[in-house]
Amino acid sequence: MTSARLPRIAYFSMEIALEDGIPTYSGGLGVLAGDTMRSAADLALPVVGVTLASRSGYFRQQIAAGAQHEQPQDWNPASRTEPVKLKVPVRIGGREVWVTAWEYRVSSRCVDSQPVPVLLLDTDLPENHPQDRSLTGALYGGDNPYRLAQEIVLGIGGARLLAAMGLGIDKYHLNEGHAALLTLELLRDRLQAPGATPEAAIESVRQRCVFTTHTPVPAGHDQFEYDLAFAYLGEPVPPGLLRSLGGAERLNMTRLALNLSGWVNGVAQRHAEVSRTMFPGYEVHAITNGVHPWSWASDGHRALYDRYVPHWCHEPEQLIHATRIPLPEIAQAHASAKEALLRTAAERVGDHGLRMDRLTVGFARRMTAYKRPLLLFSDLPRLRRIAQRWPLQIVMGGKAHPRDLEGKQHIERLHGLARELAPEISLVFLPDYGMGLARCMVPGVDLWLNTPQRPLEASGTSGMKAALNGVPNLSVLDGWWLEGCEEGITGWAVGPDGPHDPAVDAQSLYQKLEHVVAPMFYQDPQAWHFLGREAISRNGSQFNSHRMLRRYVLEAYSR
Ligand SMILES: *Cc1c(COP(=O)(O)O)cnc(C)c1O
Repeated sequence: MTSARLPRIAYFSMEIALEDGIPTYSGGLGVLAGDTMRSAADLALPVVGVTLASRSGYFRQQIAAGAQHEQPQDWNPASRTEPVKLKVPVRIGGREVWVTAWEYRVSSRCVDSQPVPVLLLDTDLPENHPQDRSLTGALYGGDNPYRLAQEIVLGIGGARLLAAMGLGIDKYHLNEGHAALLTLELLRDRLQAPGATPEAAIESVRQRCVFTTHTPVPAGHDQFEYDLAFAYLGEPVPPGLLRSLGGAERLNMTRLALNLSGWVNGVAQRHAEVSRTMFPGYEVHAITNGVHPWSWASDGHRALYDRYVPHWCHEPEQLIHATRIPLPEIAQAHASAKEALLRTAAERVGDHGLRMDRLTVGFARRMTAYKRPLLLFSDLPRLRRIAQRWPLQIVMGGKAHPRDLEGKQHIERLHGLARELAPEISLVFLPDYGMGLARCMVPGVDLWLNTPQRPLEASGTSGMKAALNGVPNLSVLDGWWLEGCEEGITGWAVGPDGPHDPAVDAQSLYQKLEHVVAPMFYQDPQAWHFLGREAISRNGSQFNSHRMLRRYVLEAYSR
């Protein structure tokens, strides 16, 4: 009999959201990675996370005269983590760069398991060239060479550090293509074995690697000119072999990860389908994302679930029994979350006339064109007419990548709209959207709006956080919502599951808001809270990171 042992997993991600004060993430990808670590702790799984220390963070968003300004968000790893007393060398552009790490421990809030270690890689060592000391500084900052150097630190440095620590990794999970150079390090190692053939070495790497792709937007897939790649990497494997694995024209990190991973998946069913057409010839599975239940439930909802849904924290499937919770208590938990949001809004941006009794629409996520933050405002006379009958207030937030000029213009336009629409409609933009603000904002609004351009959403996770707190979604049918939407039961769809047509989406959005959503909110509070409770029961019980991670274990890691 062989003794069954859980495979030891190393989870590589350019960003991991550990806690609000640690700015090592930019948005949904990092929050997903953090939720994965938190679920691993709740499920007592042998996982180690690997990411960059990002000592100057992503950026702190300030709004001045309605426009985004970016400030560095420096943090000191020593304040929250323990040093790993090891360092490993990598070569970058002919120089030796030493990589060390800080260990953060993710502990479960409900079971007595070993904490999950997350290694934050750091090159800020006196023995490194001054330029190399800043490689683990700015998350997604700098130019293409800087990005490639960061990916060398993450993929190659991370793999070498794990080896030096003697952790005995069975499977490597690449969360997005940023970590794909890790596959090259494993391949280089295998090719050095006596009698190794390229075919056998590739097969051995594929056995050990799992790759999750996260975006159907082409700009989301890193590519580097081979001149730069060879200058920085040297020749970890013969150049012809690298070109055959990484793409003919440029080194494409997605291509490399696809070719060297034995399991590939997308983050929702539709996203996996779209990825199959983007990458013909590869088998792309679907494991729909989820959110970490304890982390994303508001204080009031945690207390309710503790009382009515025992064990929900480590077995969130139990939330299907949220139907036991009396509706007045659902209403009360929501009212507390809404009060907290209005208080926070007043503290951060002053009094904009937000009121407890008004239908409050929330929209916050990365500010970028395909998320279409302006769709709700595409017909202002119509929006005003709706608000005359059914008073509306809108709370928004989100950062634009510093080089996403269109995203930054959207932020300016939203501030212009806030001035135009006041005082009939209060529109408030809360700066510096991050984990802490999301935890306040998502449960505190009455309705969570999402209007991405199909099929670019991949999954989306903030809507799952809304559902977990009994906040219904009004969302385009894309990503997870194709699986979670039960019309009139967990929320509502904007537009059809059909070809992209902004006019049809806008028409549907106004129609639902005016004739379905707002009338129910104002005229039938009982039905409204019933619907919120169904969202918890039907969506919250399913779209959590415990379910997601168990599926990774059973389908991807144990293969
Ligand atoms: C959950 C979350 C996201 C993801 O939002 P989407 O709806 O998937 O776009 C982004 N940023 C923060 C801070 C989050 O908490």
